[in-house]
Formats: sequence, C-alpha cells, structure tokens
Amino acid sequence: MPLGPTCPCCHARVPFGRTQIEVGKAFVCRSCGTQLVMSRWQSFLIAFPIIAVYMIVRPALRSMDLAFWLLSLVMVAAVAGVSWLFMKPRPVESDKAEAG
Ligand SMILES: [Zn+2]
Repeated sequence: MPLGPTCPCCHARVPFGRTQIEVGKAFVCRSCGTQLVMSRWQSFLIAFPIIAVYMIVRPALRSMDLAFWLLSLVMVAAVAGVSWLFMKPRPVESDKAEAG
C-alpha cells in the first residue's frame, strides 16, 4: 500500500496540497477523471488530538521561547504529515444517483 492519499478508483496519487488547504473542496483525479473530495470531518478527527495535545503542553512551555516555537513547528508538521498519511479521498456522490 503506497503512503499518502490515493484515488479510490485508479489508485493514482492525490497531490499533497489536497490534504491540507483545499479539504472539503471537490477536485478531479488527474489520472481517471473521477470527482473526489476530502472529508472535512475526517480532517477534523485527525487534527483534533494533535491540537489538543498542543493546547495542553503549550502553557508549560510559554516561559521557554525556543521550546515553545519548536513545539509549534512540530505541531504544524505533525498535522500536515498525519493528515497526508491518513486522509482518504472519496468520490463525490452524484446528485443524479438519487432515486425520486
Ligand atoms: Zn483516479
């Protein structure tokens, strides 16, 4: 299994940016043309525990400038990395598929 998000239809890689800034926006797979979307809810579930840990640890480090900035950097990298690893795109449900 390749690391990172892949298209559920053709298993082509999804660009890194799609797991970061454009979460919740539909995009088209470059390989097979399927409309895909990253779930905002999934992104929240992934990022929340990391942000929670950050909020808990942060007050303890406030007196230490360097440690504080290092922690902030690590947190941003962790959210980006973990969402890249675990976010999975899903096909956009077609409105035409609805019966009635
Ligand atoms: Zn595809």
